[in-house]
Amino acid sequence: MRSLRLLFVSTSVGALGTGLGGGVELTLKNLAIALAQQGHSITVIAPEGSTLEGVSLIEIPGNLQITAQTQGRQTLITMPENSVLGNMWNYARTVQQGYDLIVNFAYDWLPFYLTPFFTTPIGHLVSMGSLSEAMDQIISHVASSYPHTIAVHSQAQAESFEPRLEFVRNLQNGFDLSQYPFCATAQDFYAWVGRIAPEKGLEDAVAAIDHFGATLKVWGVIQDEAYWNEVRSRYPKAKIEYQGFLPTAELAIALAPAIALIMTPKWVEAFGNVAIEALACGVPVIAYARGGPAEIVRSGETGYLVEPDDVTGLIGAIAQVEETIDRSRCRQQAEKQYSLAAMADRVEAWFEQILKS
Ligand code: UDP
Repeated sequence: MRSLRLLFVSTSVGALGTGLGGGVELTLKNLAIALAQQGHSITVIAPEGSTLEGVSLIEIPGNLQITAQTQGRQTLITMPENSVLGNMWNYARTVQQGYDLIVNFAYDWLPFYLTPFFTTPIGHLVSMGSLSEAMDQIISHVASSYPHTIAVHSQAQAESFEPRLEFVRNLQNGFDLSQYPFCATAQDFYAWVGRIAPEKGLEDAVAAIDHFGATLKVWGVIQDEAYWNEVRSRYPKAKIEYQGFLPTAELAIALAPAIALIMTPKWVEAFGNVAIEALACGVPVIAYARGGPAEIVRSGETGYLVEPDDVTGLIGAIAQVEETIDRSRCRQQAEKQYSLAAMADRVEAWFEQILKS
């Protein structure tokens, strides 16, 4: 496809590089790299304090949004004074003429609402499943009024919205696999990676490894301190080793020797970047069959899918994973489906359709 001038508008819940944005941070970065490799030029607008190497970055000051997953289904749409979300989109408005396409990465009402007011087309990459009535309504409205402008990461995520989304594109995700070393032999620990927050269900992974007296290394931003303390006090003897929040390359090296990654989401996990990051290192994934992981893990081949919320099922999978799963198959799956090139192809096809319609 012809080379495009692309403007990415980042999440409004945290600066890039802090981990507060969750999987969106790596998704945006990977997409920028993948599309630059295809000859497109990319500029990123993101909250002040962001870091993003090798990509043109415009930092915008202002107060952050509250994360949507911490609010209820009936929540009202709110913005703080001097909103970074408002400021980023105001900036995008003033420079839009210089771009062929704008890509929105924020799970916020405002950019969807603004779609008709912009002259440059906007593609929305929706990063989470259905969380509130107001978001469902505006996303569905844009999906039907501006067909093909909405993309998601999994089928399950798309299906969570009500009314049903029309003409959505499932992009899955893509990763710079050269950053993830393949590790053929495991060391004696299990891994859990993610924002430490209730929707990620850390307590179930802890309960399962505690059954074996095994070690669980945990990586990720502690987004909810009270929840973290609660999990630890519920399982005082569990061998949890908190490893902090690491940059991608360091995380990959540390994660690679794990026996398995355990993913225990309590929500419709839109995709689960960490599942692919583990597979890329040859680490099998044991996950609840809920949301994205259910579409990623090939149960019995690259890990195990377990009935959601069934800790006994997790225990059964943990007991057999090391013996039964071939780590090289895990790496192969990542290479085949989730490389940057595979992702770039899917995203270019999406852009072409937006620009055509
Ligand atoms: N992550 C990281 N360093 C860490 C732990 C996690 O960079 O120490 C990143 C990880 O690479 C992934 C993101 O945090 O991209 C979590 O994304 P995921 O899609 O799994 O879940 P989300 O947070 O979006 O719900």
